[in-house]
Amino acid sequence: MKKTRVLIVGGGFGGLYAALEFEKRRFTDIEVALISEENFFLFTPMLHEVAASDLDLTHIVNPIRKMLRHVRFFEGEVQSVDLVNRCVVLSHGFDQHTHTLGYDHIVFALGCVTNFYNIPGLQERAVTMKSLGDAIALRNAGVAPDEIDWIVAHGTSTSLNDSTETKAIKAAYGSAASTRQISSPKSMIGHLVGAAGIASALAAVGGIRDGVISPTANLHTPDPECDLDYVPLVARRGKVDTVAVNGFGFGGQNAVAIFRRFEA
Ligand SMILES: Cc1cc2nc3c(=O)[nH]c(=O)nc-3n(C[C@H](O)[C@H](O)[C@H](O)COP(=O)(O)OP(=O)(O)OC[C@H]3O[C@@H](n4cnc5c(N)ncnc54)[C@H](O)[C@@H]3O)c2cc1C
Repeated sequence: MKKTRVLIVGGGFGGLYAALEFEKRRFTDIEVALISEENFFLFTPMLHEVAASDLDLTHIVNPIRKMLRHVRFFEGEVQSVDLVNRCVVLSHGFDQHTHTLGYDHIVFALGCVTNFYNIPGLQERAVTMKSLGDAIALRNAGVAPDEIDWIVAHGTSTSLNDSTETKAIKAAYGSAASTRQISSPKSMIGHLVGAAGIASALAAVGGIRDGVISPTANLHTPDPECDLDYVPLVARRGKVDTVAVNGFGFGGQNAVAIFRRFEA
């Protein structure tokens, strides 16, 4: 009896879990094949742990061939899909030679591409966070905690935010936390909500340009939960080459951007 051919294209969450479901059910009249560019399944939710060196990259990848015993696996790049004649062309190998695979049913699980929303210059300058290569590039970017001259804090002057941010800084910077200079522009200009992140970024760039760390205004009575160096009341002059800007919630969505002096 001729078996029904199911072809799954893409070995990410959608494709692999579709294949695993077929593995479980073991239909005798269906043959299943999966094509993916890589011979590994990448657990994307933990990519940032690899970027932060909290996990080794081997902890978030799993060989697809090892996970699938009955579904045939083809490592290769899908070049084209002919919906009329029901076949897929894939290329692989050093010479990128091609194969054509026929199917009766096809499952599309090729994922998506990063959208830069046509923001000028973003695609050329941004570091994306989608592949293992992206995480490794970020991990190897090589900014050590003690290289950060100034942390422009999200610092909203609310007790929960400020004490939580202090804990996060201690967790991220380790022993270097106590000697980092930290201040919040919101102490002077308030919370600009959606524009808060850009105001902090401008403070960072101005600080690098002028060698000035702007202070945390009105910090007369420190919260015992916030026991780091928050540059109280008076600006400081000095070396400002590398600045981390924390933007959480409004105007940042839990992002940390690092700005560095550019030496031409
Ligand atoms: C950093 C990060 C963190 C995330 N955290 C979470 C989270 O905590 N919770 C959550 O629910 N979601 C999270 N997501 C989103 C989640 O990863 C995606 O929603 C999910 O991966 C989408 O599954 P998919 O199968 O559609 O695509 P993907 O998992 O991207 O899989 C697409 C697959 O197709 C392959 N492929 C693409 N083009 C071709 C081609 N031409 N030929 C062959 N193969 C091809 C790719 O190599 C990949 O294996 C996160 C995503 C990222 C990037």
